Amino acid sequence: MTKLTSPAVSQSAHQMPKARLHYFEQRRDQIVDTIRRLVEIESPSDNKQAVDRCSAFAAEEFAALGGRAQFHRVTDFGNHLQVDFAGETQQKPVLLLGHYDTVYPMGTLTSMPCRVGNGRLWGPGVLDMKSGIALMIHAIQALQSWHGQLPRPVTVLLVSDEEVGSNSSRHLTETLAQQSSAVLVLEPSYGPKGAVKTARKGVGEYSLKVTGVAAHSGLDFEKGQSAILELARQIQAISKMVDLKRGLTLNVGLVGGGTRINVVAAEATASLDVRVAR
Ligand SMILES: [Zn+2]
Repeated sequence: MTKLTSPAVSQSAHQMPKARLHYFEQRRDQIVDTIRRLVEIESPSDNKQAVDRCSAFAAEEFAALGGRAQFHRVTDFGNHLQVDFAGETQQKPVLLLGHYDTVYPMGTLTSMPCRVGNGRLWGPGVLDMKSGIALMIHAIQALQSWHGQLPRPVTVLLVSDEEVGSNSSRHLTETLAQQSSAVLVLEPSYGPKGAVKTARKGVGEYSLKVTGVAAHSGLDFEKGQSAILELARQIQAISKMVDLKRGLTLNVGLVGGGTRINVVAAEATASLDVRVAR
């Protein structure tokens, strides 16, 4: 067991978080301004030119802090941006991961302008995730001002197609993640307390199709095999696989089946969403 005996050490350990919070509070307007400038460059996933404008702006901001910016060129989507920062030590980098595409179509700014009021910030993509990009910029700047140089290498990866499945960026993300000692995804924080997300669940979507035998429910009920009844049994079995302690959930979110009320159903389907913690 370690005991802190030096009052100087315990005091500075106490004051450090407050001092750092104070540093960011003093720079609140600058941080808000960075977010606003990112939000005012609209960047819907399906508009390469627009997304590329946003990535060019982000690249300049990171380059101004001494990062080596390079674009991974993509034809169907915006280019992905990688920025490498050297550190004092030769450790593996920490990867800061994010995306600059948004779900808001071009022109949304007209009806949803970026504005600040009552301690809130509005605009397309403010939450998901242009604030996260602004925080990357200001966090790197803060570390540089506290330490002179970053204590360890940092790589920033911003992709252009996260909102539409990350197909063109997935390989790049996986490659850089494997070369890094840790990955911090700066997507919006969890809940109003602003807790940092340290993990994301895996997700899978499945459809289940049951085929039965149709029959008239009055004339020859016994010849039928109800797909709906079997689907109901399957749903019961599926729900028993849920294991909250392991972070495994299965949700049957959609069901369909049958043709008429007086016909034993020959077909039934269900769609399920599966989430895994590991
Ligand atoms: Zn996002």
